[in-house]
Amino acid sequence: MAIKQLLKRTSGWLYLNSPVGRNQLHGAGVILMLHRVLASDQAAELPHRNELCVGPKAFEHLLVWLKKHFDCVPLMDILQPGARSERPKVALTFDDGWRDNAVNAFPLLQKYQVPASIFLSTDFIGSHQRFWWESIGETLWNSHGEQARLHLIERLQYLGRPLPTLCDDPDQQRRSLALLNFLQGLKTLSPLDLNRLTDDCPQESLPQALDWQQVHNLEASGLVRFGPHGASHAILTGLDDQRLDEELSRSRDALLHGCNQPLPVYCYPNGDNDARVRQQVARHDFPFALGTGTGIYRGAGDPLALPRFGVSQRTARNPGLLSWRIYRGARP
Ligand SMILES: [Zn+2]
Repeated sequence: MAIKQLLKRTSGWLYLNSPVGRNQLHGAGVILMLHRVLASDQAAELPHRNELCVGPKAFEHLLVWLKKHFDCVPLMDILQPGARSERPKVALTFDDGWRDNAVNAFPLLQKYQVPASIFLSTDFIGSHQRFWWESIGETLWNSHGEQARLHLIERLQYLGRPLPTLCDDPDQQRRSLALLNFLQGLKTLSPLDLNRLTDDCPQESLPQALDWQQVHNLEASGLVRFGPHGASHAILTGLDDQRLDEELSRSRDALLHGCNQPLPVYCYPNGDNDARVRQQVARHDFPFALGTGTGIYRGAGDPLALPRFGVSQRTARNPGLLSWRIYRGARP
């Protein structure tokens, strides 16, 4: 391990285990942001998946570490705290509503009795609609065969987005990193183009997203609650007033219809929000909303832009790095 990483891990650990650290975190809450839990750690390691995916071994390692240092609580225990506990609190959140949350994450949440909140992009739930970055990324990664890959490369070229030669590098890490950069660049394409490209990717046998029966089963366990993460996952700050209202209403109504006790918490797609979006979210009966700015929640600050810490495969494998980031986030 690099010296710098070791130092970060050690000072993070000291922080969690020192009176100063414990004092600072007393009564504070840490909200973690995850997306997917894949079936394989090896698959999650690759740079183009690392940020949004963790593997089962890394996820289990993270849960054990969290239980050692924190009280693992439902999100609402942090947002509307009752009794103050001795230890700092942590709440797990998952964005988008991936099917693997039920298949791979839930059995481990249950094993360790760690509560979680899942934020659904409601148009995807119970449908075969796909998330563009997953379909395009995995097709370009050749997960669906060379023919599909070549076809997609042609389509991208036509849209003025030729695949960089680094995406053909024989070294897997470099190839994956180049793909990550390329995918990030595609965010500037229009939603229409992205949808068309996604439709051109081969369909997997199983839907990417949860279905409502799975949502119902997870909710019935008492361990998981759900909230909205947009309907179509459109970036809210880019929508006009009417479309913004439609996204917020449609996602809220889908949750009210599909869940017994939906959370009064909105979760912005991509974390993007501004004053107009926050005002509209409040108007749609959400007193709380999650952004992606990092920090610790102490009951102060804007409840419509709550901070979170993202968890990647790398941090799940080395949670000491997470305590370093919490330490940085906690410093005044
Ligand atoms: Zn998302």
